[in-house]
Amino acid sequence: QVSIENISKAYGTVLAVDNVSFVVGKGEFVSLLGPSGSGKSTLLMMIAGFEMPGSGSIRVGERDITNVAPNKRGIGMVFQRYALFPHMTVAQNIAFPLKMRGATRAEIDRRVEAALALVRLEAYGHRMPSQLSGGQQQRIAVARALVFEPPVLLMDEPLGALDKKLREEMQIEIKSLQQRLGVTVIYVTHDQEEALTMSDRVAVMSNGRLVQIGSPLDLYEQPETPFVADFIGKMN
Ligand code: ATP
Ligand code: MG
Repeated sequence: QVSIENISKAYGTVLAVDNVSFVVGKGEFVSLLGPSGSGKSTLLMMIAGFEMPGSGSIRVGERDITNVAPNKRGIGMVFQRYALFPHMTVAQNIAFPLKMRGATRAEIDRRVEAALALVRLEAYGHRMPSQLSGGQQQRIAVARALVFEPPVLLMDEPLGALDKKLREEMQIEIKSLQQRLGVTVIYVTHDQEEALTMSDRVAVMSNGRLVQIGSPLDLYEQPETPFVADFIGKMN
């Protein structure tokens, strides 16, 4: 489980994340949903360890990871932009997190093959990212994040660049992969429909604050603020 406790982060005078606390259970799929600038990416970057919180703490299980280096946290991440390294082949991209962790050549080969199979792109290891479709590139980004079998996976708008049809296919694919592996997921989106269909619970953010967290049904039927009602109600 991932415990976020009283996390805040300011950039100059902008309070990007404002005293946010919540717990994500083992194997749970939680989405952070909110408009542009509400602090979703900043919060995710702090959980991943690429940004340091100004105050508060983050734990995975009993382990306090607030000051642990990103590659020592046991957390995989799919970024909002620049998903793949363009100058590396698909296989080299997936191997990258393993190399960073000092894996042996044999282990890298075995795990890269397994990761490619996971996203059903076994035959694409030798290609360059530019030779893949957008959806294939995102599947490779997911494979790369999962290659060291992290118990926790963070995804920041992984489907933002895709058209509606591909987006819906990928939602199903990511969801089924998550359930099959039992991985704990924190998933950022500003698409209410995506958050409501994929998540066990949704955390609604506004101006750096967590306004409400609950199951899709809870949020839909019992919004605690007009903001939540309005934001969730935009689904059609
Ligand atoms: P989007 O949906 O557009 O990706 P977001 O919810 O991910 O938005 P954040 O990127 O977390 O929002 O930004 C939250 C606030 O912090 C914004 O006001 C943003 O301008 C500010 N911010 C984010 N990163 C930085 C930074 N590196 N330096 C200064 N301000 C930043
Ligand atoms: Mg963002």
